[in-house]
Amino acid sequence: MVKVLAILYDGGVHAEQQPKLLGTTENALGLRPYCEKNGIELVVTSDKEGPESAFNKHIVDADVLITTPFHPGYLTRELIATAKNLKLAITAGVGSDHVDLDAANERKITVAEVTGSNVVSVAEHVLMTILVLVRNFVPAHDQIREGGWEVAAVAKGEYDLENKVVGTLGAGRIGYRVLQRLKPFDCKELLYFDYTELPADAAKEVGARRVEDLKDFLSQCDIVTLNCPLHEGTKGIINKETLSYMKQGAWLVNTARGALCVAEDVAEAVNSGKLAGYGGDVWPKQPAPADHCWRKMANPLTGGGNAMVPHMSGTSLDAQIRYANGAITILDNWRNGKPQTPSDLITIDGAYATKAYGQRAATK
Ligand code: NAD
Repeated sequence: MVKVLAILYDGGVHAEQQPKLLGTTENALGLRPYCEKNGIELVVTSDKEGPESAFNKHIVDADVLITTPFHPGYLTRELIATAKNLKLAITAGVGSDHVDLDAANERKITVAEVTGSNVVSVAEHVLMTILVLVRNFVPAHDQIREGGWEVAAVAKGEYDLENKVVGTLGAGRIGYRVLQRLKPFDCKELLYFDYTELPADAAKEVGARRVEDLKDFLSQCDIVTLNCPLHEGTKGIINKETLSYMKQGAWLVNTARGALCVAEDVAEAVNSGKLAGYGGDVWPKQPAPADHCWRKMANPLTGGGNAMVPHMSGTSLDAQIRYANGAITILDNWRNGKPQTPSDLITIDGAYATKAYGQRAATK
């Protein structure tokens, strides 16, 4: 009998109020009826940390792991060594860095995700976060809720997006959609930094210029948005040194992965005013600890400059339907020996199936 282990976040009362919360342990991506119908043993849990967790216990004889980036079951090399039966790791969403992909390749574990399922959801969140930061929205809204009215206190940190230079680090599905959505704002220039060049017609459509050197790229931008996967070539790519290349008072938005940034360096840049603000929804380890330095960091001039939220951009209710259905399709393909959609594959047969997780000779 096939055993599927699903690591998801708990919905609690919210799952009762909102049945569309498919990515919760309560609704389990719609897996329960599918597994019942097909004689599959299904274990669903949110308990994922430490040697005594349900994750560590059940991974030992699971054939398939399904998890989401929002509450990731971190499939480390050590855990893979205990997972004797594991053949398939499905990401219900986009971004499979919670899996040690090299270790998965060594064991020929297929890693697949629901490519494209939430890229519009994230691109919309990026646009919102850019505007929230540039227009200094958060302190202004706090002022209203607290009964105040002091226009100058918030206008002193409020700018227009128009005529700013905006750059995306990573111009794949999300990065390109961000550029498309920025176009009507009449920015001074749209830039991108990516080892994969955009097709000429796509770059022309949004009016984006490629910058090949990271320092050159960062130093030209008023606003930088991070939209690349987390891998050994991007971990900590935003750090004390690279932050020093950025303009004084620039804004940084990260909805890609928290560990792209050295957390303390970003907090210091915000707290010192080097960055006018930082916002996003991704944290180095999730759930983020209550005392994480990104929770309370603030720009010294405005008291704002912090647009952090829990990992939510890619888990809109619209996205949940897409990644829930996509995860079941990947499981169904695997059970029936059907080929997977090529763009959903991250690793297969012991090799990387995508160029997005770093430039490697072994990439198929
Ligand atoms: P994609 O594969 O379509 O695009 C990724 C791009 O990043 C590619 O063009 C690739 O060449 C580029 N890239 C890789 N390494 C790079 C490097 N060192 N420097 C510059 N560019 C580099 O992926 P996507 O669908 O656009 O998603 C991107 C990432 O966004 C995901 O891997 C995931 O981490 C994150 N994401 C977050 C959420 C969320 O809810 N916050 C949801 C979906 C995806």
